Amino acid sequence: MNTGTRNLSKLKKAARIILVGPPGCGKGTQSGRLLDHFKLTPISSGDLLRENVRNRTPLGIQAETVMRSGGLVQDSLMVKLIVGELSKRGWVETRGNLTSGICLTGPLSVIGGPITPRASDSPTASFLLDGFPRTRNQAQSLDSEVAMNLVVNLDVPHDAILDRIANRLVHEPSGRTYNVTWNKPKNPGVDDITGEPLTRRSDDCPETFSKRLKSYAEATQPLLEHYDKAGVLWTVSGSTSDEITPQLDAEILKRFG
Ligand code: AMP
Repeated sequence: MNTGTRNLSKLKKAARIILVGPPGCGKGTQSGRLLDHFKLTPISSGDLLRENVRNRTPLGIQAETVMRSGGLVQDSLMVKLIVGELSKRGWVETRGNLTSGICLTGPLSVIGGPITPRASDSPTASFLLDGFPRTRNQAQSLDSEVAMNLVVNLDVPHDAILDRIANRLVHEPSGRTYNVTWNKPKNPGVDDITGEPLTRRSDDCPETFSKRLKSYAEATQPLLEHYDKAGVLWTVSGSTSDEITPQLDAEILKRFG
């Protein structure tokens, strides 16, 4: 199995991690730091889907409408997309009938056939899932393909998230975000790179965001219970990313170092 040549020397065995956290909790920041500290490559379901939409693949075309409406893409497609990506990168071994249909980040495509992957225990086969699984059903399907061995639940108080969101500015064309208290743009109100104006996202108003947090919590509870029962759930609490990172690093070293 080709597990790549990434430097994961801090890890002694494969870390197959799922990062779960509410919108605005700093999941992107933690994901970037895990890549930096442990070379843990993040696989983002949203990014993979957007790539399929851009490439006009059958899956992308199918997913586009659902994504636009803010709904969830069909579970079976999501599982094939993610497991296919993991096999393509050599982090799980796939046996079975693979036929074309989905554009992964490379030539392997997996729609239309049963797949039976097996995860490598080599630390170079470590990865981080972001955005998948989102439902208990997806988690159960993933279980039958590959055993994830740590689910990190980022527990950030809603007040802290709302406070952050209230101070968030975004450069819409690039998605670059700033914070008027701790990550100010060099010049007030404009993007550092393009000089274009920064705006507030329409869904960043506290009332709307509060609702999103509530519905996230309701939707995620069954997923967390599923992984709790499986004995792989670990919750880390903190109001800021800097409070969470050292705890997360220590836990990963304890389990996989
Ligand atoms: P994200 O970038 O994670 O916010 O995902 C963007 C969109 O992709 C979501 O609003 C969903 O429509 C779709 N999506 C991403 N991940 C999943 C998933 N695990 N299950 C179903 N749909 C997903």
